Formats: sequence, C-alpha cells, structure tokens
Amino acid sequence: PVHRSSEIQEARLKLPVLAEEQVIMEAVKENPAVVICGETGSGKTTQVPQFLYEAGYASGSGIIGITEPRRVAAVSMSQRVAKEMNLSTRVVSYQIRYEGNVTEDTKIKFMTDGVLLKEIQKDFLLQRYSVIIIDEAHERSVYTDILIGLLSRIVPLRNKRGMPMKLLVMSATLRVEDFTENQRLFRTPPPVVKVDARQFPVTIHFNKRTPLEDYTGEAFHKTCKIHRMLPSGGILVFLTGQAEVHSLCRRLRKAFPFRRGHSVTGEDDEADGSEAMRKFKKAKQKKTVSLPRIDLDNYSALPLDEGDEDREAEVREEEEDNDDEGSDLDLGDHPANSVENADPSLPLYVLPLYSLLAPEQQAKVFRSPPPGARLCVVATNVAETSLTIPGIKYVVDCGRVKKRFYDRVTGVSSFKVTWTSQASANQRAGRAGRTEPGHCYRLYSSAVFGDFSLFSEAEITRRPVEDLVLQMKDLNIEKVVNFPFPTSPSAEALVAAEQLLVSLGALKEPPRTGRVQEMERARLSCPITPLGRAMASFPVAPRYAKMLALGKQQDCLPYTIAVVAAMTVREIFEDLDRPAGSEDESQKLTQRRARLTQMKKLWAGQGASLLLGDLMVLLGAVGACEFAGCTPKFCEENGLRYKAMLEIRRLRAQLTNAVNAVCPEVGVFVDPKMTPPTEHQVVCLRQIILAGLGDHLARRVQAEDALDPKWKNGYKTPLMDDPVFIHPNSALFKTLPEFVVYQEIMETTKMYMRGVSAVEAE
Ligand code: ADP
Ligand code: MG
Repeated sequence: PVHRSSEIQEARLKLPVLAEEQVIMEAVKENPAVVICGETGSGKTTQVPQFLYEAGYASGSGIIGITEPRRVAAVSMSQRVAKEMNLSTRVVSYQIRYEGNVTEDTKIKFMTDGVLLKEIQKDFLLQRYSVIIIDEAHERSVYTDILIGLLSRIVPLRNKRGMPMKLLVMSATLRVEDFTENQRLFRTPPPVVKVDARQFPVTIHFNKRTPLEDYTGEAFHKTCKIHRMLPSGGILVFLTGQAEVHSLCRRLRKAFPFRRGHSVTGEDDEADGSEAMRKFKKAKQKKTVSLPRIDLDNYSALPLDEGDEDREAEVREEEEDNDDEGSDLDLGDHPANSVENADPSLPLYVLPLYSLLAPEQQAKVFRSPPPGARLCVVATNVAETSLTIPGIKYVVDCGRVKKRFYDRVTGVSSFKVTWTSQASANQRAGRAGRTEPGHCYRLYSSAVFGDFSLFSEAEITRRPVEDLVLQMKDLNIEKVVNFPFPTSPSAEALVAAEQLLVSLGALKEPPRTGRVQEMERARLSCPITPLGRAMASFPVAPRYAKMLALGKQQDCLPYTIAVVAAMTVREIFEDLDRPAGSEDESQKLTQRRARLTQMKKLWAGQGASLLLGDLMVLLGAVGACEFAGCTPKFCEENGLRYKAMLEIRRLRAQLTNAVNAVCPEVGVFVDPKMTPPTEHQVVCLRQIILAGLGDHLARRVQAEDALDPKWKNGYKTPLMDDPVFIHPNSALFKTLPEFVVYQEIMETTKMYMRGVSAVEAE
C-alpha cells in the first residue's frame, strides 16, 4: 500500500486523470495496448504509473517502465513520483544515457526512449517489464515512434508466450490516428481513453505586427509590461534556444533586480518588515494592480552565468536594444515603461528552463517563488508539454521553434528557427489556464498564425536514419521498409542509410543480379554482418562505431575512444566569439581567445599529428583536461566547456566498457594520464578516421576554379555545386590541405566543415 501525505493526496484529487482511474485500469486489464489522451498537466505522467503500481503491476517480478523523449522529464518525473508515493528513489528511479539511480528494488523506472531501445537489443522481449508506458507520444520523436513499432510486435509475442505485458501510449493531443488507425501497427485499434482537462479559458492576444528579427526584444518588452501592469500570476515565456533564454533572463533580472547576498530559495531569513513595507508602498504608488506584499529581503539574484553551457551551435545572443516600438499590449502608457531603468521595487523571480539545464536548476520552477516576487520562467519548448509549471497565468509566445534541418542530398545540417505549428502554439497558450483564467500574448499576428502548419511533422521524416536502420538490422528486422513505423521515413532516406551501412561494412552488399526490380528490393534488405553487430552495440552513430571497431590495431583503441567521445559531444570549446556585454567582459574575452588559440596550437601537436587537424586538437584537449583532473578551473582557464568535458569523460567510460564487452581480449581501460599517440599511431588513427568518414571527402579547388571569388579557399565535395570551407577556428585553416575529411557540414554564415582532418593523396 502507498502512504501519501495529506497535502499530496489533496493535490492529486484535483488532477483530471484521477477521475478516469477506473476507466483507464479497466481498459488496461481488457486490452494489450491502450492510448491515453489528456491535456498537459492533467496528471498522466505522474499518476498513471501510480495507478499501475497500486493495481499490482509491479508486485510480481515485472516492473513498470515509462519512457520520455527528454532527459529533463525522466529525471524530474521520477523524483516527483517517488515523493508523491513516499517511496525512495531506489524504488522509483530513472535511467538516462549517462546516469541513473536504478537499483534491484526499482519498481517504477523512468527512462529516455533511447535507453529502452538499447534494452530491447539486449532482451527483445523486455522480460523485466510488466508494463511499458510510452509518454509524450504526440512529440513524435524518432525513438518513441520506433518503440511503438517494436512494442506493437513485442506485446503480442509476450502474451503468446504466457508472459503477459501491457503497453500504454500517452499523448497530450487527440491526434493519435497515426497510432490507432495504422493497420500495420495494431490490427485491432487500441481503445483511446480521453481525460477531460479542467482547463480555464485563455484569452489570446495577437500582435498587430510581427517582428521578423528581434522577437527576444519583443518578448522582453511584453514581459516587462505584464509585470508592471497586470495582477499577480506567473509568466511563462517561450523562446527557441538556450542562448536566447539566458539573454532574456539577464535582461529581466537587470530590469527587476533582487537584492543580492541572500539565499535564493527565500526559505530562511524573516523579512525586515518596515523596509519591505516602505518599498511596497513605493511600488503601489506606481499604480501596479494588486501586487502582493513585496518582501525584498528574502531572496537574491541567481548568479548570472549559471548553467549557460550547452548552447546550441552557433546561436548568437541577441543584442540588447532599447527600442520600445511595436508592442501593442494595450496596457496604456506608463512612465515606468522606460524599461531599461532597473526597478528593484518590483522583484521578478526569473528562472531559465531548457532540456540540458542541470536538474537542481530545473527543479526550481516547481517551487513557489519567494514571497512577494512574481515567477517568470523563460523556457524553450520543453515547457510546452513535458513539464507543467504551477501558477502560470500569462504566456508570452514567440511563435518559433529551433529545429535541426538536414539536407538529404548534400548531408548539410543547420539549425534554423522556424514558425511553430498551430497545435504547438495552442499547447503553449494552454499553459496559462491551468489554475485560473489566463492570457496568452502571441508575438505575431493572427494572419501569420493562420499560415502556420496545423501540426508539427514527425521527426523521423526529417533526419538521416542509418543509426535506426542498423539497430533494426541488429534486431533481425531485415526488411526495414516493412517495419510498422507510425510514420515511415522516405524510401530515399532508407536507401541512403543502407548504402552508407554497406559502405561501412555493417551490411552485406546486395547481390548483383540482372533485374532492376530485384536489385531495388535487395538494396533495401541487406543482411547485417558480424562487424555490423559489433557496431550496433556501441552507443554512437554508425560512422563512429566503425572507428571503434577498427581501433584495436596498433594499440590505438584508447585514442580512438577518446576521439570518438569528443567528436560525438557537441561543442567542446566555449563560445568566446560571443558579443560581450561590457568593456570589461570584452577585454576578458579577448584574453581568453588568445589563450585558447595558443592551447589549440599545443594540442594540435607536431609533425605527423598536425595532419589529424581538428581531431588531434580534440584528442589533445581531452588528454590535457583529464591529466589535470578535469576540473572546472582547468576548463575555465583553457576555454573548454566543463559540462562537455564531463560528458566526454562519461562517454569514454561507457565506450570502453562497450568495446571490452565485444572483444574482451583487448582489455582496454580509461587512462587519465594518456600519453600523446606516437607517430606510428597517428598514421593508424588517420586510417581509422578515414574508414568512418570516407564519404565525407573534400578537395581544395584547383587554381583555375579559384579565379571565381566565391571559390576562394573553397573545397569541392562530390554532392554539392557550391564550395564548402574550413572554419577560421579550425586547426587546418592556415594549412588548407588538398584533401580533407570532415565530420559534418554545418551551414551558418557560410557552409563550414566541422571536425576537419587532412588526407594525403597517395
Ligand atoms: P501530464 O503528464 O498530464 O502533463 P503531470 O503528471 O506531468 O501531467 O503533472 C500533473 C501535476 O503535477 C501538474 O499540476 C504539475 O504542476 C505537478 N507536478 C509535476 N511535477 C512536479 C514537481 N516536480 N513538483 C511539483 N509539482 C509537480
Ligand atoms: Mg506528461
């Protein structure tokens, strides 16, 4: 039996999903698969696992598994459910890529969808589980889609073998036909249980004009106005990425500062009443509508630079701007609207929220703000459906989302900010109506909204799929085209994936028979090779897995593992090219840039190592950082991102284990005092890298082409008409070797190759 505190019990009773407990449990009892739809915040994620637990689904040998597309949700939801149930995190636990607190006693396990996919590889029948819940299915993340496809087969198999298993698919929207009405997926459509959300009305306010560039500035002005003019209630701002989130947080904290030097939580220190009252009166004179008692002594500002690490590639922070045009929040003119003047009498408790934020930081959004301060959460779209922040009354929506785009023909990746879908915009608006009627300020016009697509497309249709294809082949799904995808990737994407895998040696080349039709079919059902199986067991993309599989030669394995770990963690260097906020900062940045340039030169090595280019720099950086004990101080001094270095450390350990599992005889281990590779090993490493990146070859343009200024210092790749370039930050920028291989091409201001290494023409 579960013993919940009365406070928790009371809060649960308010959740709409509780009213449906019986209906849900009946449906689960009667059917192998059930779909549950309910608005964000209706209690699906926190309550449904508890229903199952109390109905005895974890009392035998099987446990309850829940997958989340985001790490944030897996961690924070497991903690929340443990707390609600009064159980230890040994029992309600989580597992994400690098870490977890799962024990032998675990009964409810939250995990990312990628983690469960890996488990299926080890045990196709998932015998540890009696129930799997696929959460946030509406997000249509690639792994979620694949898992549903796989589970549609696993569940009947389990039932046939007398080891019954249940599948629950949970979605925040009603758009579930891709799952329910897909005959290939479920022959009998699973029943759909709808949870009626007690949603309060949300008034939508469109902008008259749509700012095309500076929506962060617009969000700033709107938030300031709401805070100055409107009654109490939390504000939730949607932006597109971490850099934007931090920049807005900084501006808002500057405009509505806290007094520093006290605890952030506001749980200690009684207030100095008279001082607070004086400020409160002053605040009142400013015509603020019913702001609650302001208590200035109970909190302080968060450190300004906290958590700003996992910035996405090449996203620049917005310039500060004082332009107050274009806002049409009809709140009348107010002298206080000259927003850049810091106003400490109206404290705003500003918190950032995005996926990669440290869990302690994330948890802050669930606590009540310090007394007297208004909560303002500046978030990416993690706050759209995965996390429900209590007490939000105002939503400010920039209407955009940042997505990675991938060009299937050229392989060029780019991050682009695009309009979101109508469904997403409505989800965002809905966040304002959880506890009382709310308001949503859309920073775009209703005409622009009308042009949004209705729904966001499934991720699987937008990215390369070689990793998925390899995983499936390893699961003995030979004809991937026939896999019951909720939404299938395009035939070209599947063909491209099989081709790459064949060229990497992971799949057997299709026989060259005479007939075109037969060959076409064969191209889509190449069987996996022993090398492919080894590759599939490594938790990295096939190209990098290939490098690991070859690393045995010449004692190169420790280096290969370190390089692969560094190549697959995004951005190991700090962004020192960012615009500085002040003169002082600008000077510091210049100094640090100089230091990093110097270090990179050192890390790039000498002689033969130089040819390894950026990859040698990565290897040198990892080696040096580990040698120094991987401290925040070392990273800070040398322009490395501490968080990235920690991730590399974890990944090195993980890859080392994976390699030892495949070939125990190599007995590789993580050496924190790794010496630089010998000249001979460098030669070998270059071959290993070429084996993984062989199709990513570029050749410097020849003299005759170079006459065209567009081709100056450009490189030619087989698939593109336009030149690609070596980035000024690359170790090979000055050398410009004739042939290079690259990790990927990223389009920013130009088409730049990332992770460049030289190849010698034989
Ligand atoms: P759904 O999955 O349907 O979106 P959830 O189960 O995530 O709903 O949330 C139900 C309620 O639990 C929400 O009101 C949310 O604010 C609350 N909640 C979730 N996590 C926490 C937490 N860590 N602390 C406090 N309240 C939380
Ligand atoms: Mg949820």
